[in-house]
Amino acid sequence: EGPMTVGEFAKLIRREASEVIKKLLFLGIMATINQEIDTDAMELIASEYGITLEVKPPVDEEAIDMLVEEDRPEDLVPRPPVVTIMGHVDHGKTTLLDAIRHSNVTETEAGGITQHIGAYQVEVGDRKITFLDTPGHEAFTTMRARGAQVTDICILVVAADDGVMPQTIEAISHAKAANVPIIVAVNKIDKPDANPDRVKQELTQHGLVPEEWGGDTIFVNISALKRQGLDELLEMVLLLADIRELKANPKARPRGTVIEAKLDRGRGPVATVLVQNGTLKVGDIVVAGTTYGRVRAMVNDRGKRLKEAGPSTPVEIQGLNGVPSAGDLFVVYDDERAARNLVEKRANREREQMQATTRVTLDDLYRQIR
Ligand code: GDP
Ligand code: MG
Repeated sequence: EGPMTVGEFAKLIRREASEVIKKLLFLGIMATINQEIDTDAMELIASEYGITLEVKPPVDEEAIDMLVEEDRPEDLVPRPPVVTIMGHVDHGKTTLLDAIRHSNVTETEAGGITQHIGAYQVEVGDRKITFLDTPGHEAFTTMRARGAQVTDICILVVAADDGVMPQTIEAISHAKAANVPIIVAVNKIDKPDANPDRVKQELTQHGLVPEEWGGDTIFVNISALKRQGLDELLEMVLLLADIRELKANPKARPRGTVIEAKLDRGRGPVATVLVQNGTLKVGDIVVAGTTYGRVRAMVNDRGKRLKEAGPSTPVEIQGLNGVPSAGDLFVVYDDERAARNLVEKRANREREQMQATTRVTLDDLYRQIR
């Protein structure tokens, strides 16, 4: 929020100005009430009081926003939905992810070798659905913590022999907070003690009311293990996608989100990114978090090398100069030097923040020793 005086800052954190001045003195800064206080010092003092300052949007984010032009409506085309599977432990998330993957990938494709890159895409008729591969809600929360919005639809898996459990409820609140619609997959209906109606009743108490009871939540009975009901589930995903009219502009400047990344011994840093707008191409200059580089190669979840990847496509890219974090946004730059400058600025800022934290810790320690 621009420059601030010591007095204004004290008011902001609800402390006496004299107290702040004393703190500043302790940090080796001489200041009066009407002098400007720098951001570092503000953060430092605030954190000593256990207050986290809302940091103003950093300059480079503004730079990225400036790069992103508005899409013309006539350029928008339908894109595949991006789906996350959530639910209580042992209710069948992994089994469902595997079942969908194997039932909808033909063995002849690229030798039929599946690559675990953190996300995959299946074909349903002439359409596609993208699945985020990390079961549980960690992926979801990591992404959201970084402000990334990648999920269009959440499949909530509830075991019909176990019913609604704590992590079921947690998943519902995550999806609601992110404004992501839920399809309920009532799983394990092959089990003798399965009671899908009980699941419906229990979920109704959490605001998920099935259509036949006058609500608008889609329920599908499935057995992930026996691969029953999967086609219907995928159809419902596509139906919901149609209702939501998910669209993107393949001609836009490519941007999206890092799903996961690692350092590969042979290939160096590799990152799975979800392209959310535009079409990412080999040779593009990408900035992702505090890393950048020219895309050297792109591989999909079936190990196939791609030259380009359009909206909702997850691809593993090579060529970044470091390992970005899950949830980092990426954007394509025209100019390599601008990309490098931005990344250096970001890295410096991160380093400074880290140093600030360390300083506070040392101060705390000192105080304790005293
Ligand atoms: P996750 O913790 O949600 O990922 O659950 P898993 O997919 O690991 O499944 C937990 C257990 O439930 C495993 O032993 C699965 O074989 C079993 N399971 C999953 N789906 C079904 C199903 O549809 N029917 C039956 N009978 N067992 C299932
Ligand atoms: Mg699992």
